[in-house]
Amino acid sequence: MANACSVRVRGVVQGVGFRPFVYRIARENSLAGWVLNAGDGVEIHVEGSEGSVDLFLRELFADAPAASSITAIDVAPAEHTGAQDFSIRASPSVASPTTRISPDLPVCPRCLAELADPGDPRFGYPYINCTDCGPRYSIIEKLPYDRANTTMAAWPMDERCAEEYADATSRRFHAQPIACPTCGPHYLLETGGEVVRGDARAIERAAALLRDGEIVAIKGLGGYHLACDARRGSAVQALRERKFRKEKPFALMVRSLEVARELADLSPNAELLLTSQARPIVLARARVTLPGVAPDNGELGLMLPYTPLHHMLFSAGAPEALVMTSANRSSEPIAYEDDDAREHLTGIADAFLVGERPIARRVEDSVARVGLWGPVILRRSRGYAPGAVAALPTSRPLLAVGADLKNAITLVVDGQAFVSQHIGDLESWDALRAWQETIRDLLSMYQVRADELLVVHDAHPEYRSTAHANELGARAHLAVQHHRAHIASVLAEHALLEERVVGVSFDGTGYGDDATIWGGEVFVGSVAGGFERVAHLRQADLVGGDAAARHPVQAAAGFLRQLHVLPALTSPPFDFPRRFGQALRLHESRTRTFRTTSVGRLFDTAAALLGFTRPITFEGQAAIWLEQLARESGPVAAYPFPFVDGEGERQGEGELDFRPLLVHVIEDRRRGRPVSEIARGFHSAIAAAVRDVAQHLCESRDARWVVLSGGVFQNALLLEEIAALFEHASVRVLTNHAVPPNDGGISLGQAALAAFAPAD
Ligand code: ZN
Ligand code: FE
Repeated sequence: MANACSVRVRGVVQGVGFRPFVYRIARENSLAGWVLNAGDGVEIHVEGSEGSVDLFLRELFADAPAASSITAIDVAPAEHTGAQDFSIRASPSVASPTTRISPDLPVCPRCLAELADPGDPRFGYPYINCTDCGPRYSIIEKLPYDRANTTMAAWPMDERCAEEYADATSRRFHAQPIACPTCGPHYLLETGGEVVRGDARAIERAAALLRDGEIVAIKGLGGYHLACDARRGSAVQALRERKFRKEKPFALMVRSLEVARELADLSPNAELLLTSQARPIVLARARVTLPGVAPDNGELGLMLPYTPLHHMLFSAGAPEALVMTSANRSSEPIAYEDDDAREHLTGIADAFLVGERPIARRVEDSVARVGLWGPVILRRSRGYAPGAVAALPTSRPLLAVGADLKNAITLVVDGQAFVSQHIGDLESWDALRAWQETIRDLLSMYQVRADELLVVHDAHPEYRSTAHANELGARAHLAVQHHRAHIASVLAEHALLEERVVGVSFDGTGYGDDATIWGGEVFVGSVAGGFERVAHLRQADLVGGDAAARHPVQAAAGFLRQLHVLPALTSPPFDFPRRFGQALRLHESRTRTFRTTSVGRLFDTAAALLGFTRPITFEGQAAIWLEQLARESGPVAAYPFPFVDGEGERQGEGELDFRPLLVHVIEDRRRGRPVSEIARGFHSAIAAAVRDVAQHLCESRDARWVVLSGGVFQNALLLEEIAALFEHASVRVLTNHAVPPNDGGISLGQAALAAFAPAD
């Protein structure tokens, strides 16, 4: 029996070898018809015997190319056309604004085999790629995704490449970045005044320099890296000094999965994450100590090679574990333009391995870890961006500009929320410029005019993102409170926009409704209906404003002042430095002292009491230190950290009282209890408080889910303890998986809440 149908496939299906794949399976099943790239995906018409059509549809779903990601397949009966064979038809030239841009892809096994095959025309060619692999987002200048609109436009194809490009049976059919050694770009090495040309020679020389302990700047997919031998302490130390990066851990790129296993404990899920298409940096327990790589930290950040160049470097004898850190000076965005890299990295790098293909936009490495409920993305960038992570019920274009730290932005077009790559901390001028560039870039890519936009920003009047959001010339503006955005980010990615939940948002800082500094907030409500704040950490003082976040003892001053008796802390075992006394005096005179409910500062206080009395050198350092310390202890009883729900007039003003918690921490420290046990008991107390709050409020407010978000929930030990407490509970826990629980997820939450704002 004959049958005809039309099929629409949506998702990431363009530029990933989807049409040749359809062509192949249609022919194998003796079907006639055609396939073409349409505005919002791929359109297919097939006709033939019913059995063949069924088989075709099954294979379409089951065997789709690795780089594709299907969100929907719609099949509808169609008229017979009498087509005689199957063809790939030319596409209408206008791309719809919601055409998905593929993230960058790691080099595929077949290209790797050709790269290593002396008989192959692309043997040893660092820009080898095909429709299954290679650059995408990092080379696209504008849509539609055609070679002329990429940074490969300057290299006309030679005959061989042009033939493969036009051949529907080839793996390189319409592979926009296709190139070979004859017609494509090359790498070269600059060192001292010398320039080494020829891909193989340049790469071999770079590998030799790395073996000798030198620091090499390497141009990758989305920017420059600084690399050195991770096992050579002196090289790592030199890199730290030259980069002004005191203690923040360096990520490593290792030759193979085997090397990764030697360096860290990898669970099967960690290995899946490490080898996933995004090839993120994966955090895992270290098995070895590499001096200077991750000081005072029990974890290592590891990634596998993902470009042909990386593989060639290791084959050429580069050390099997390389520090691979974003090329920038501390806290500046990653360098991605050649001149900029030379200017900024001279004095840091001993040599530059430079590729000729320009990078269209900076895309840093992503960072992730395996969590109990799935992967936790700590920095969402290369391999993930600019994928759509949520569908929102709005037809108006909407731009959410995020928070000032760990910034990423979200653009919503036709109800699709596209989250940008990680941009960074907007405090530096360069980062602010990168943020503005990213906004312009996404708007022009999706053909949205600024004056059509609803722009959503944080409620903080002094955020740079707020100030600049008001200069974009948007149609309308909306401010969204920070911690509500954290909770909404989780619900948006889980498509639970109407669900009534209890939301627990713990982080360092966010501007509150009452103009105090929030960071320990509990809400009830939904994205659709809004969130009511029903409880919070007991208020303490933040002495000296932002400086308190850099000095744990200063944070401690504002919290310990809340105790009935202020303990003596400048003597053993506490030995608080002079800064503590100064902070107390500031507090006395109420100078630059603010009210806060920050759980992040409560962690800093505990860290200070257990020995972290020096200033921190990167954000979150004291809390990470405390977590590592706690991991050295087995389970212990939780310290008391009572939740008191408001009654009568104080209905809806529940409070988590940290005073008994800190009193116990101080007493146990004084008694000489091992600090690791105290740190563990502190973590257990926070976990138990989350359970108490969730159980009580879910019951009294009729909710089934507790949603956790905010930077504090990056703490893996805390999440483990929470998971154990909820194992048999009727309340279910929901956390971030597509966007970070830290401020990198804020823009998605802003967008979700704004999608329900009354139309203006
Ligand atoms: Zn390939
Ligand atoms: Fe936050």
